[in-house]
Amino acid sequence: MGYYEFDIKVAGESLDALLNLMSGAGCLGAIEKNGGVIAYFSDTRGINEIKGSLALFKTILRDSGLDGSLSFGYVFLSERDWNETWKKKFKPVEAGRSFYIIPPWEKGKEGRISLIIDPGMAFGTGHHETTRTCLALIERFSGSTAKNRFLDVGTGTGILAIAASKLGYKHVTAVDIDPLAVDAARRNAELNGTGNIEIIEGGISSAQGSYDFIAANLMSEILIKIAPEAPQRLDLSGAALLSGMLSGQEYGVIEAMEKEGLRFDEKFEDGRWVSVVVRH
Ligand code: SAH
Repeated sequence: MGYYEFDIKVAGESLDALLNLMSGAGCLGAIEKNGGVIAYFSDTRGINEIKGSLALFKTILRDSGLDGSLSFGYVFLSERDWNETWKKKFKPVEAGRSFYIIPPWEKGKEGRISLIIDPGMAFGTGHHETTRTCLALIERFSGSTAKNRFLDVGTGTGILAIAASKLGYKHVTAVDIDPLAVDAARRNAELNGTGNIEIIEGGISSAQGSYDFIAANLMSEILIKIAPEAPQRLDLSGAALLSGMLSGQEYGVIEAMEKEGLRFDEKFEDGRWVSVVVRH
């Protein structure tokens, strides 16, 4: 197996939107660099599929009223080169008040909860702002919600589910439609020694029962799509954290959730990114 490293250039105003789109396109990790984006894909995706996604992004950017000019170059990395690349680029990063995200080859930090993430296979290394925001908010809400059942929709590397487990949620369910993400999440759960995370390949409908806390760090289009399923999965006293929206996109998501009978509770802004909490 090998990987592709894409060096993508976009207009400054489209950068956040591009990073947001990358996560939905089977991108394993994306880093903002020199006003552009360095993004990694597994070669199992096929180069034409990846190029097809990038072409589609141009249209989506333009449809959102942003500058759609986008150019890119790419290189193929063997498994070994890939590991070396990530070792150089994936440095530990702090999130929230207590988390410390580290790759398997780094040591933890005194007084912080380590989240060991092998960045090899899926999105969610903590180098993206929305992942860190979600971690900080999950930490904050864990003090005030029941900690029985936690659901992570679109788990990627499993990072949010692993954090929930380490914060003391008794039963954690993580779902992702991408089989590569499911493999990565299972491996990362094992690396962290968390024995209470059930990882399912599928969407929100593959989870059963209701949850005290739901975290969904997805694009706004996907959040809108899952809205009809959200009330059923959310406990009557629970809270759902919806993240991964660009400023302005939250209104459509709130409207979709309200249509299903949920109510908007709180909004958190982090630069151009927005997260909202909805409840019954
Ligand atoms: N939770 C991680 C990863 C977010 S990336 C973090 O916060 O960093 C978004 C993930 O959602 C990707 O792994 C993608 O495969 C998955 N995904 C996209 N659409 C989905 C859907 N409808 N249901 C479940 N997962 C989905």
